[in-house]
Amino acid sequence: MNRLLDTHCHLTGYKDPAEVLREAADASVDIVAVTEDPGEYRLMRSRLGRRLGVHTALGMHPLRAHGFTPADLARFLRMLPDAPWIGEIGLDYSPAGRSTRRAQLRIFEAILGDPRTLSVPMTVHSRGAEVETLTRLAQSGANAAILHWYTGPPNLVDDALAAGLWFSVNPAMCHSAKARRLIDALPVDRVLLETDGPFARYRGRPARPADLSAVIAHLAARWDLAPEDVVRQLHANRLQLLERCEDP
Ligand SMILES: [Zn+2]
Repeated sequence: MNRLLDTHCHLTGYKDPAEVLREAADASVDIVAVTEDPGEYRLMRSRLGRRLGVHTALGMHPLRAHGFTPADLARFLRMLPDAPWIGEIGLDYSPAGRSTRRAQLRIFEAILGDPRTLSVPMTVHSRGAEVETLTRLAQSGANAAILHWYTGPPNLVDDALAAGLWFSVNPAMCHSAKARRLIDALPVDRVLLETDGPFARYRGRPARPADLSAVIAHLAARWDLAPEDVVRQLHANRLQLLERCEDP
């Protein structure tokens, strides 16, 4: 059976990460465990090791930009050759991030400016800064970038697709009218999965990787496919993303 991939999960944010991992393994869900800073990445790597089905992603979260030093950025770039995934990185110009725009941009541009990042799959935050994020990603030539929980203007979606970007869809998005319209506008071969758990919620509690079955059900109805065909398509998309990394 094809396995699912949660491309954006804050594993350390759960009260019971071990239980979340067990449940994900039982539901045949692999996880990209995103981190918010290089220290967290190192900790996760040493805790999880190279556990099957869990990919630790090297991140510098845009909303943490005020606290990052040049040494943190240098540490990030030093760790790059070891990282199977990058995330969470990106820009956030919503009220929460508006005051640190310049610092965010400096970090994001430095990361994208390192040629080694271009062939690593990355999950990217773009809230309130969709144009800026998209422009930087397109200019950088990133081969395997995923816009995670895209909430920006619908008229940018075609530009993002033309730039070769993917979109990841989570269970909460299937319950939002705006996000459902986005999902309907996406070609089936550019869709990947995420939970953004535990920060995103599902059924009144933190979303968990095993909840991805709800997204499969939603996509099956929208795409007029059997659930197993949706799973097959999403698996093909995952392989396509990784292939772009091998052969940029
Ligand atoms: Zn996130």
